[in-house]
Amino acid sequence: MQWEVVIGLEIHAQLATRSKIFSGASTAYGAEPNRQACAVDLGLPGVLPVLNAEAVAMAVKFGLAVNAEIAPRSVFARKNYFYPDLPKGYQISQYELPIVGKGRLRIDLEDGTGKEVGITRAHLEEDAGKSLHEDYHGLTGIDLNRAGTPLLEIVSEPDMRSAAEAVAYAKKMHSLVRYLEICDGNMQEGSFRCDANVSIRPKGQAALGTRAELKNINSFRFLERAILFEVERQIDVIEGGGEVVQETRLYDSAKNETRSMRSKEEANDYRYFPDPDLLPVEITAELLQSGRASLPELPDAKRERFGAEYGLSDYDAAVLTASRELADYFESVVANASDAKLAANWVMGDLSGALNKAGLDITASPVSADSLGGMLRRIADNTISGKIAKQVFEALWAGETDADAVIEAKGLVQITDSGAIEAVIDEILAANPSQIEQYRAGKTKMLGFFVGQVMKVTQGKANPGQVNEILKKRLDG
Ligand code: ADP
Ligand code: MG
Repeated sequence: MQWEVVIGLEIHAQLATRSKIFSGASTAYGAEPNRQACAVDLGLPGVLPVLNAEAVAMAVKFGLAVNAEIAPRSVFARKNYFYPDLPKGYQISQYELPIVGKGRLRIDLEDGTGKEVGITRAHLEEDAGKSLHEDYHGLTGIDLNRAGTPLLEIVSEPDMRSAAEAVAYAKKMHSLVRYLEICDGNMQEGSFRCDANVSIRPKGQAALGTRAELKNINSFRFLERAILFEVERQIDVIEGGGEVVQETRLYDSAKNETRSMRSKEEANDYRYFPDPDLLPVEITAELLQSGRASLPELPDAKRERFGAEYGLSDYDAAVLTASRELADYFESVVANASDAKLAANWVMGDLSGALNKAGLDITASPVSADSLGGMLRRIADNTISGKIAKQVFEALWAGETDADAVIEAKGLVQITDSGAIEAVIDEILAANPSQIEQYRAGKTKMLGFFVGQVMKVTQGKANPGQVNEILKKRLDG
């Protein structure tokens, strides 16, 4: 039997407002427990929620960015359930009338293909507090700092057909909310959380299979692993004669498995009803207008522009526009160095490699765009070779800022004087007559030997193009 995988994602993006969605308490991360929970967040009697306009503006911005219908009127509803970290006994969310309706997001896959994933809806809601099960000797601590933090829950259509597509979607969404500056995207701190709904069905069957919802996934790598594990599990269950049950499963990254957490509740278990404490949210034409005006250049548009303006391949353009910060860095380098292809190669190659190795983000790069641009100018004008540039780059990485000063201090200027290069070549040819014979007898690979010798003598500083050219002439002539 051939199985087809079907995945839909629910992403909770914590909106980057300074205060909570219905109260004035701070949303800053990392405070002492319960220091940032006010009477509203604690659910004390007699208090009333007041909607944070900034959260609404952010949801609108998101909706516009994914070409979604923005509901002119949306309604907050109470989702009733009991949990110790939810003191009111209900979560304020949106149910029948969410603020953002159907939209779509383009994703690009590593094999160069792409597709559009449908967005079902995105709604505003408040986060719950946190239950702390460790460190309390058999008791549970409750921290309500997170209670009332604004979330945008983004629900996708079940349009993804592999773990790789799900990861591509999640990454693209992550990139988008960061471009829009509506979410900091920090997955470790839980600012961007991904639940994956996974089912399988026989290839060719139209009806969807029964899904399991996977929770507790806090990185893209775990998202991929959790889905891969779950797909295998479901195949085993069905092929073993069993049935997949609709349930919520917890991903355990240490064991790389999913385990049943609870059977899936139905919507009617929550007794949703419109929250009488809150007015419907009306989106005015002005709000839409200012939302549109506040949109930055979005990832897809930037990527296309990078292709057209800098002549980059689609792949390079995609890598460089994955985050706004990386794209900005690249553009500053180009502004300094003008050779876009060279800049792309260095930013995606040596610089990204060094950043990865050091676990640093582009915003924390020890090499500024100015410094890198300065070095690339010297490659472009032939002052240094690309190979020697690696030494200059190392010095910049270690704290130097001016490539010219490094080149000067280390004596790295490229030898481009053909007379000087010829003199070295003469010496080497004279010292290696048997290798010349081999070359002339047809072993043209010996050219590499001679180039290597010249580079050794000149400490890598001879211009490689000229070395090759002169050597060939001399050996063939
Ligand atoms: P709920 O609110 O109970 O979680 P929804 O109908 O809102 O349920 O769906 C949640 C997510 O599950 C959506 O992203 C949707 O695309 C996805 N989904 C629904 N059915 C399936 C299925 N059979 N297989 C995979 N994903 C599914
Ligand atoms: Mg759900």
